[in-house]
Amino acid sequence: MVMKVISTGSQDGNCYSLCSESGEILLLDCGCSYKGILRGIKYRISDVVGCLVSHEHKDHSKSVKDLERIGIPVFKPYESFKSAVQMGNFTVNPFELVHDVPCYGFYIAQTESGTIVYLTDTEFCRFRFRKVNHIMVEANYDKRLISDDFAVRDRVLQSHLELQTTKHFLQANMSNHLRNIVLIHMSQNNMDYDVMEREIREVSGRAVVSIAVPGLEVNMNRVPF
Ligand SMILES: [Zn+2]
Repeated sequence: MVMKVISTGSQDGNCYSLCSESGEILLLDCGCSYKGILRGIKYRISDVVGCLVSHEHKDHSKSVKDLERIGIPVFKPYESFKSAVQMGNFTVNPFELVHDVPCYGFYIAQTESGTIVYLTDTEFCRFRFRKVNHIMVEANYDKRLISDDFAVRDRVLQSHLELQTTKHFLQANMSNHLRNIVLIHMSQNNMDYDVMEREIREVSGRAVVSIAVPGLEVNMNRVPF
């Protein structure tokens, strides 16, 4: 299984793909242009078994209509909740997050990769995931660097993960089973990437830490235990 960053961040939009060895592709959010998605998956649109959308904000949902128009199943738990969906060989359970609109993270199980947790756009996470293999998590801002503009500050503070909260989430879900931590949806102005990487590595155990940039590919195969 290979996870690829197609697009990340509020400005460019968020879209990631999980591509299995059998050829199935699952999209995580679709907040960039449809053309950008096509390029990101090398035009293998017929291999896409579905798209999971966390919430209605455009930087996560921009291409929903384009995907639906060509018949791709799009799971939007914020519109129509189901506790579990099957997309190809991916079994998906949504879980509720804390944002300024209804927003969901996803717990994904698949044979090659084991389990993946994807969460973004939340103030904190009230759930724990035992023995999860891969975590894709927002590390949006560092409160020490946050803008003094209170309007921006208030919205960011109430709706996105702060670096220390991301660290606590990782510590709460740390185990020998965790192989990858992928940091996504960073704010360009409110985060020092070097500080973030150093601080996350302090709590990452044996897991590989990757910082999402467009085009990044991460091997997400299951670890033999
Ligand atoms: Zn949002």
